Amino acid sequence: KDLIVCFGEMLIDFVPTVSGVSLAEAPGFIKAPGGAPANVAIAVARLGGRAAFVGKLGDDEFGRMLAGILRDNGVDDGGVSFDTGARTALAFVTLRADGEREFMFYRNPSADMLLTEGELNLDVIKSAAVFHYGSISLITEPCRSAHLKAMEVARQAGALLSYDPNLRLPLWPSAEEAREQILSIWDEADIIKVSDVELEFLTGQESVEDDVVLTLWRPAFKLLVVTLGEKGCKYYTKDFRGSLDGYAVDTVDTTGAGDAFVGAMLRKIVDDQSVLQDEGKLREVLKFSNACGAITTTEKGAIPALPSEPAAVELLKRN
Ligand code: ATP
Repeated sequence: KDLIVCFGEMLIDFVPTVSGVSLAEAPGFIKAPGGAPANVAIAVARLGGRAAFVGKLGDDEFGRMLAGILRDNGVDDGGVSFDTGARTALAFVTLRADGEREFMFYRNPSADMLLTEGELNLDVIKSAAVFHYGSISLITEPCRSAHLKAMEVARQAGALLSYDPNLRLPLWPSAEEAREQILSIWDEADIIKVSDVELEFLTGQESVEDDVVLTLWRPAFKLLVVTLGEKGCKYYTKDFRGSLDGYAVDTVDTTGAGDAFVGAMLRKIVDDQSVLQDEGKLREVLKFSNACGAITTTEKGAIPALPSEPAAVELLKRN
């Protein structure tokens, strides 16, 4: 069993053609397909792994384009449903001068939010070795129930559950609601990846020190990773913990770095689950994940920038 099933949203980011401008000032936009769980699926496939995506798209030009992108990248789209009423989600994303992003979403509601339990492709979910998800699919019904059902089915079928909350605060009714819902499924994961920003949001503390991170640790976790942007990552298991530096690259757009990191990590874990018990092996996996994250920042958009295995190996060799 080596299939990585990614559940959640797939959408189109509209990214300004020039950096460092507001949406109003942007002279034009480039279509950049994305959605964190879909990015992770494509990241896995680009690294030679087997991936499937489960979610809902609009039965429109953009939805069909996105399903085509999954297939073109070797991701199984058998778990994709189409909504005839609602549109594929859109997000306008501004790249600030420092390369960080701001979002404006068009979801009123979008097709991804309307996935129902009954539409889940249970065969795909049951064949997962790893079932990966975020928190955007928890925001509204009926998708929330579909998400919870899919987690349950995957768990019962023996999959490892992987969670990257991917906080998008503007999509939630309030910060309190976001925190509460993100943490409502916290304890069920085997593997969690959070960014430093999410760590601060969830703990209410402006620190990535171990004592702060460990307030998010649960006894049943197999791995908790905190990504630190260009500074790399920290990792925690029940037996060991440590950190790894990132790789210096010419960053133009950080979109998808976290997804590339997660895809790389899951790709390696599914190949050899003993990395979760062996610190030496885990460090190699996370170096590779850091390299994949770094490479993804060197081009605009997430999907075009996701690396192949040789590209990541090449960056590791140079360092
Ligand atoms: P995303 O931008 O996809 O939301 P994230 O906030 O979830 O990402 P980050 O911590 O920004 O996650 O990045 C994930 C990983 O990608 C980092 O741990 C690091 O290895 C790599 N990375 C991110 N930004 C840079 C950068 N500017 N230079 C080098 N590596 C980077």
